[in-house]
Amino acid sequence: MTAPTYDLGKLHGGLRLPGHKESSTREPILDVPVPANVVLPIEQHVGEPAQPVVDVGDRVLKGQPVAEPDGEMGVPVHASTSGTVVAIEQWPVSRRQGGKAPCIIIESDGLDEASAKQDIADYRKIEPADLLLRILNGGIVGLGGAVFPTAQKLMQARTGETEYLILNGVECEPYISCDDVLMRERSTEVLGGAQVLLHALQVNTCYVAVESDKPEAIARLTEALADLDDERIVIKQVPTIYPSGGEDQLVQLVANREVPSGGLPTDVGCIVQNVGTAAAVYDWIVRGEPLISRITTVTGDGIANPTNVRSRIGTTIADIVNCTGGYTDRANHLIIGGPLTGKSVSTDEVPVVKASNCVLVVAKSTYTRGELPCIRCGDCAAVCPVQLLPQQLFWHACADDEKQLRDFGLTDCIECGCCDLVCPSHIPLTANFRIAKGRIRELADEKARAERARRRFEARNERLEREQRERDDELARQKDAAKTAGPAAIAEILKRKQRKDEDSSS
Ligand code: SF4
Ligand code: SF4
Repeated sequence: MTAPTYDLGKLHGGLRLPGHKESSTREPILDVPVPANVVLPIEQHVGEPAQPVVDVGDRVLKGQPVAEPDGEMGVPVHASTSGTVVAIEQWPVSRRQGGKAPCIIIESDGLDEASAKQDIADYRKIEPADLLLRILNGGIVGLGGAVFPTAQKLMQARTGETEYLILNGVECEPYISCDDVLMRERSTEVLGGAQVLLHALQVNTCYVAVESDKPEAIARLTEALADLDDERIVIKQVPTIYPSGGEDQLVQLVANREVPSGGLPTDVGCIVQNVGTAAAVYDWIVRGEPLISRITTVTGDGIANPTNVRSRIGTTIADIVNCTGGYTDRANHLIIGGPLTGKSVSTDEVPVVKASNCVLVVAKSTYTRGELPCIRCGDCAAVCPVQLLPQQLFWHACADDEKQLRDFGLTDCIECGCCDLVCPSHIPLTANFRIAKGRIRELADEKARAERARRRFEARNERLEREQRERDDELARQKDAAKTAGPAAIAEILKRKQRKDEDSSS
């Protein structure tokens, strides 16, 4: 048995925050019944949206792909129950604040009939490259909230010299407890997923990082590890400090390696996967079930019975909250995600998607307060885990100064919200940084579009010049031929030239 170890790197900044997790972890995970309709957004991951491969009126089975990947970063979407496709239309979603996105809506037939499972083979006998393709076909993405396609992330790691797989069980944001209950109730699947990932990566060390305030999860994982008897896997406790679960912060804590500015964990030989992602990989590769459900924390003072639920992807928040016992009369503000990094939504008709780790319903936005001028106290810089200067970034964001924002490292900001929490002037720094990042992305997209247009224009000019040269050469050749030809042939050549000139000028 491998005992939990503590030799950790140091995290800069961060905050010890009240967890608010007790109420949602008292009871076991609650299974939400299959709803009357599931609403499946085709864009549930970072990258190009999947493309529907079903039509309205089609009958589909549970686990059947209903949208296929499009582009290098694509991931399929699977039907989460059996039934009939009744619409492919715009529906409110949580990834676009207040916005709608294309969704495939399936009316359940109540049978929950599964499609034929993929051939289940011993994953150790599958070539790692084939295993990556299988993981892609399972629709698996990072379930910690980032929803980066898992197969593509593993592929990136395989092209470098990866030494450590780090499973992220550090659920440091207040209120969220879905990974904690997953590790308590499905520790075997989490560690089984780690073994599959180790084989896919051809790596020999996996650290499972868990916060020290999750003794039950640590105990269950330790028992499961004893049963597996796999010395490649080591459980590491990390201190309960927000945001120690950020990828770069976790690499620093667990592997004592610093991810360079603008870089990735793979640059320092590490790849981080959420514990939920590992369990999803196990469910697909070992049991043949694609990613069609997930665990979500339903909590806050606006929820009558806070708990964790397992629901089909596409179940609406309204259906889930009803199943847990409904809202309290304090319910006023709905957030998908945690209080610091989540998104406010205006309707509970949004569906649970692969990214939905938490449904938080509160009386008011806990962290929204009246804003005052900056007093240059420097508290925001002291807690920033990326060692940025948030007050400087804020000024440059207000001035819309892209160069200074880049120079001061805005793109390294992980939007953790620590600076907001300590700011005595209640300045919504993170919201400003999010907007500024969006503007920088838009500018970069505009530049890329302009560059593509410039290249197209130059290519067109080159083509026209080449065609003109070819016409001139042809004419010169015909003139040479005409020197030995009679008057009729010369007249024909002149006519042809005139026609060509007319064509090119029209
Ligand atoms: S914490 Fe707030 S008031 Fe203090 S320096 Fe930062 S932005 Fe200014
Ligand atoms: S939101 Fe960005 S700037 Fe603020 S503390 Fe977090 S990483 Fe630093």
